[in-house]
Amino acid sequence: MILRQLQVGSIGNFNYLIGDPDSRTAALVDPAWEPERLLGEAGKLGLTVTHILLTHCHSDHVQANGPVKDATGAAIHVHRAEFPYLKHFLPPPGDVAMEDGGSVRIGSLEVRWLHTPGHSPGSSCLWVENALITGDTLFVNSIGRTDFPGSDPREMFASIRKLRALPDHLTIYPGHHYGPTPTSTIGEQKRHNRFWQVDTVEEFLAMTQPDNDIL
Ligand SMILES: [Zn+2]
Ligand SMILES: [Zn+2]
Repeated sequence: MILRQLQVGSIGNFNYLIGDPDSRTAALVDPAWEPERLLGEAGKLGLTVTHILLTHCHSDHVQANGPVKDATGAAIHVHRAEFPYLKHFLPPPGDVAMEDGGSVRIGSLEVRWLHTPGHSPGSSCLWVENALITGDTLFVNSIGRTDFPGSDPREMFASIRKLRALPDHLTIYPGHHYGPTPTSTIGEQKRHNRFWQVDTVEEFLAMTQPDNDIL
C-alpha cells in the first residue's frame, strides 16, 4: 500500500492519499485545502484518484470536494448520517452512502468503514491494512470535540470503546496534527490518551465539559 500523510491548510489538517501500487488507483481522504497540491502529489506518485473518502463533513475536511471531483471524477463516499450536510450546506452531494462494517475497494486494497459517532453523527474511521485513519474522532493523545451541533459525548464514549477493541499494532492517522507526533498506535493510545482511560460514561462526561482542554 502507498499511504501519504500531508499536512494542509492553516489549522493542522492532515489529508491522506491511499494508493494501490498494482492498479495505481488511489483514494483521497478529506480534501479541504490546497487541492492542487493534493492532486500534484498523486500525480508525482503516478496515482489516479478514483475515490474521495470522508471521515465526516465539517468544512475543514470537505471544502475542496468540488475541485477534486471536477478534476478527477472521483466518487464521494461518506457515512449515511452525514449525507444531508453535504447536500444542503457543502455541495457537491455525496455519491455513496457508507454504513458501519462496509468497505470500499481501491484496486486490490480494501478500506473498511467503522462508524464512530460522537464528534459528528456520521464520523467514521477508515481501516486499511495496518492503518486506521481516524478523522476528528481520535487525535494523538486526545479526542475530537463533542460540543458541536450534532456531537454527542455519550456516542463518543461508545466509539472509544469500539476503537480500544482494535489490535494494538494498528497505526493511527488522525485528522489534525494536534499531538506530540503525527501518528501513534492503538496500543500507545491505551497507555497515553487520558480520554481512553476512563471506565464509565459518567467519568467521561465530566472530562468532556467545555472548560476542559479538549480539542
Ligand atoms: Zn470535525
Ligand atoms: Zn477537523
